[in-house]
Order: sequence, then C-alpha cells, then structure tokens
Amino acid sequence: MPKNLPIATFPDGRRVPALGIGTWHMGEDAARATDEIRSLRAGIDLGMTLIDTAEMYGSGGAERIVGEAISGRRDEVFLVSKVLPSNASREGTVAACERSLQRMGTDRMDLYLLHWPGHHALEDTFAAFEKLKADGKILGWGVSNFDTEGMQVVANTPGGGNCATNQVLYNLDDRGVEYDLMPSMARRAMPLMAYCPLGEGRLLNDPVLNRIAAGLDATAAQVALAFLLDRENVIAIPKTASPARIAENRAAADLVLPEDVRAELDRAFPAPDTKTPLSIV
Ligand code: NDP
Repeated sequence: MPKNLPIATFPDGRRVPALGIGTWHMGEDAARATDEIRSLRAGIDLGMTLIDTAEMYGSGGAERIVGEAISGRRDEVFLVSKVLPSNASREGTVAACERSLQRMGTDRMDLYLLHWPGHHALEDTFAAFEKLKADGKILGWGVSNFDTEGMQVVANTPGGGNCATNQVLYNLDDRGVEYDLMPSMARRAMPLMAYCPLGEGRLLNDPVLNRIAAGLDATAAQVALAFLLDRENVIAIPKTASPARIAENRAAADLVLPEDVRAELDRAFPAPDTKTPLSIV
C-alpha cells in the first residue's frame, strides 16, 4: 500500500506534495514528446501533482509539453514556471508570464519564480509579480538560485515579504544549502525547492549509494529522493521522461531510511561544516 506523499507548506498556507516533477530538457526533441507527456500524466496520476517548468526550457517547448500533459486536468496540478532574468523588468515580467500561460494553455500559474538573479531591479520584478497576482494570473511567487545573502536582499526589498520559496540545487552529493540557507528559509517558513535532486542522473552511478540502495532493496534514485523527502519543507522535483521511472521515483516516498542507513549516508555524503558558495547548474 503506497504511503501518502509528504506535504510541504508555503507561507500563505498552500500545501503541495513534497515530490513533484521537473521538466528541464523536455520539449527539445519532437521524437521524445509522447514519452514526456505520458510521463507527466503518469506522475499526476501517482500524486506528483507539482510540475516545475520555465520559459527557458526548450525555449518554451517544455511549457508546451506541460500544456498538453495537463490539458483537461488543470485543477489537479500545482504549476510552477520561471521568468528569465533578462525578461524580468516590470513590463517584461508581465509579458513573459502571459506568453508562458498561453503556451501552457491555462489562465493562471500557482507559482512564478525569478529564475536567477539578474540585472533588473528586484523591486521592479516583485512589483510585476504583485500585479500578476492582483490580476489572478499567478497565485504566488518566489525566486531561484539565491544564496543566503541574496535572500536577505529579497526580504529587504519592497514587496519581498511575499516571496514564497527559493529553488536551489540540493541533493545528497551537494548539501551546501544545509549550512545556512536552509535554516534561514525555515525561519521564514519558506519551503526549499530542491532542483537536480538526482544530480542530473550522475549521482545514480555512485557505488556507495548503489550499495546502500541494494541493501534496502531499493534503487539509487529512491534513496537519493528519500533522503530529501526526510527533510522538513523540502520539495524535490526530479525530472524523468519515462513513465516507469516516474513510478520508481514516486515509490521513494514509501522508503523508510533506518537510522543506521542515515548515518551511513552522512558518512558517505557529509553535511557541510562550513559555508560554501551556492552551487548552480
Ligand atoms: P535531476 O536530478 O532531476 O535528474 C534528471 C536526470 O535523471 C534525467 O537524465 C533523467 O533521465 C534521470 N532520471 C530520473 N529518474 C531516474 C531514475 N529513477 N533512474 C535513473 N535515472 C533517472 O536533474 P534536473 O536537472 O532535471 O533537475 C530537476 C528539475 O529541477 C529540472 O527538470 C527543472 O525542472 C528544475 N531545475 C531548476 C533549475 C533552476 O535553475 N531553477 C536548474 C536545474 C533544474 P530520463 O528523463 O531519461 O529518465
């Protein structure tokens, strides 16, 4: 009997499954579109209803794939997309959002993120986010690839108090955010969205991880995801264009990591004991 997915909560009280689906590299190759759409739909069927995309992915292609996958079932999903920093002026953010909505065939996004810090003033981007929110085109907004100091700047920027999340690179093999970013976000009651939760797939070749997984009768991907799902208010968004792997990833939520296994993971993939620059891809 599969367990329910763990839940993450945004500062405004909205609750989402802590295991969602990423879409980077989707929409780049027409030959893969059918698998990508099938995989997203299978994920939704399994309760992985948070879908993360961006205008950047496949130059809009990923948002079009998402649009096809959620056609007729928009209300089942929590849709997250991102504005490119180069578009993140006051007018540019609004226009980019409208293009994204059109590609996804919907009238609203659940969360809209600034993809990474850029040259437009945060105050302008946040004003645009607030306008989009007032117009019902987005229901919340946040940022991505901001380190601890950047999040302090966000908090000190007019409107910044409404920032709902920060999406950053976080996986078993790259735990830098645990040092001070994660605790500072927890103090603001913000969930952390963990991208590259499988290290873009490379982490899955790690021999120690594979040995530990074999001992649990699980896969390396499941252990890597279970490690993240164990964390309070962390949302993991693994990407796969394979319905079989979607089911495998969903089953990570059913995996219990015993105390001795957690200790073994900590030895093999140590938590940071000093501040390191935020990793980005
Ligand atoms: P992931 O860590 O999710 O790894 C994805 C890779 O792992 C793909 O090659 C996939 O291949 C493979 N994979 C997935 N599941 C399994 C499995 N069970 N067994 C073996 N291989 C598997 O990397 P991403 O870079 O895609 O990160 C996840 C999401 O985070 C992105 O898709 C995107 O939505 C978001 N992101 C955000 C960024 C930001 O700047 N805000 C930056 C990077 C990512 P296959 O598809 O063939 O199964």
